[in-house]
Amino acid sequence: MLILCDFDGTITEQDVTNLIWDRHIRPDWREALLPPYRAGIVSPPELMAQGYGEISAGAEELLDFVRPQVNLRRGFEPFLAACESRAWPFRVVSQGLDWYLRAFLPPGVTFHCLEAELKGTWQVRVPAEVGLPAGQDYKVWIMEGLRREHPSRPAVFFGDGTNDLPIARKADRVFAVAGSMLERLCAEHGVPATSFTGFDEALDALS
Ligand SMILES: [Mg+2]
Repeated sequence: MLILCDFDGTITEQDVTNLIWDRHIRPDWREALLPPYRAGIVSPPELMAQGYGEISAGAEELLDFVRPQVNLRRGFEPFLAACESRAWPFRVVSQGLDWYLRAFLPPGVTFHCLEAELKGTWQVRVPAEVGLPAGQDYKVWIMEGLRREHPSRPAVFFGDGTNDLPIARKADRVFAVAGSMLERLCAEHGVPATSFTGFDEALDALS
């Protein structure tokens, strides 16, 4: 088994970027930024660059704001330990930012996400070493790379959001957070997905 897992809204119950944007960018960001994104005109990394491009507060200030509001989903740390003991490679695939994934993930977890640098406001980009081809989905690209490293292992994906649909379509098995946008999109697009609220249930389902 090869486990790929979204971060915001999946490993954490909250979406860290939504919390930050609700406090720090234009109040109508959902109406202004989301329609072109949902229509596929703006990619997830471009959306992140747009929103964080309005923020000049530093990482420590933003983390102080979100820390009290964010918790890891039930069963996540035992699930990580189970992956380790079963030698299932575990990778976080996220379009969130490096500094907040690092702040919330337990040490030693490998994660793939966007890079951000504060130069007046936040400059967000896909890490150059990923070599993401134009038009390719970031999460799918990471998964295909891992599949080449671990051939013959089925890829299991955990997610919750709109930007998780492309990888969900290509994964061998999908777990969607109960009540999430991904759960709804999978149903709409005929992608089989198991609904979950805690990683303990997911581990039972995979065992
Ligand atoms: Mg998410």
